[in-house]
Amino acid sequence: MPVLRTLEAGSRYDFRAGLSPDAPDESEIKDEEGSYGYCHSYETSSRYDGPGLRAVLFVSGCLLRCNYCHNPDTWHLKDGTYVSFQQVLDRLASFAPSLIKLGGGLTISGGEPMVQLAFTRRIFQGAKAMGLHTAIETSGFLGDRVDQAYLSEVDLFLLDIKSSNPDTYRRVTGRDLAPTLRFAERLASHAKPVWVRFTLVPGDTDDPENVEGIARFVAPMKNVEWVEVQPFHKMGEFKWKSMGLEYKLANTEPPTKEVVNRVIEQFRSAGCRAR
Ligand code: SF4
Repeated sequence: MPVLRTLEAGSRYDFRAGLSPDAPDESEIKDEEGSYGYCHSYETSSRYDGPGLRAVLFVSGCLLRCNYCHNPDTWHLKDGTYVSFQQVLDRLASFAPSLIKLGGGLTISGGEPMVQLAFTRRIFQGAKAMGLHTAIETSGFLGDRVDQAYLSEVDLFLLDIKSSNPDTYRRVTGRDLAPTLRFAERLASHAKPVWVRFTLVPGDTDDPENVEGIARFVAPMKNVEWVEVQPFHKMGEFKWKSMGLEYKLANTEPPTKEVVNRVIEQFRSAGCRAR
């Protein structure tokens, strides 16, 4: 049995590994009740991951392997802290009134929150019961696992679309693009609010045609409130090294201001609200 612990507050840039060595593999987890789960950390005051002031819970487990990932220590459940959903909600309750006053709420990020579907569902339900706005950051890769009830617990989807080209997507993430696009279309058909997030990696995703493809796909979707261009950075490089992983982007520099502006303009010209 994994050992139940207290989840330490911290930051997405903290390196945490090996905390639950008995955890199942993230591709095999049977999370039917959702009473317990594995988390990396939480932040209490992000202004970046949804509207207003956000508490952000970073859960463990991801089936993608993005070459630019700044949190490889969230890939495996065994690296996370084993906690109960009730512990998470008790902690959240202590700052929920401030979050509400500041127009914010709870965002669950990762890792990929849909790996631990029942666990994150319970946390969203609890957050809603506190009157909090809820958001999820997801790649959409596991979107087919999500039922309508889950969709209704989430007010905003921060949907990472990493490429419009299936080959590029596979090269950058190791997985198929189609489930993400399917999930985006489903969110559009249910008019669920979405902020699309696009990570701009020089030499990998910055090709104008790649950007154009995402822009053309997203522009007709009236539910997409924002497209956010996120410049690649290397703040997670040290984690790759600590985990003995090869970081293939060691020689890649963050995109210049000009390239970031060019990409934002591409989205705007296609009719997206972009920033
Ligand atoms: S989806 Fe997110 S957590 Fe998973 S590998 Fe990609 S960047 Fe990392």
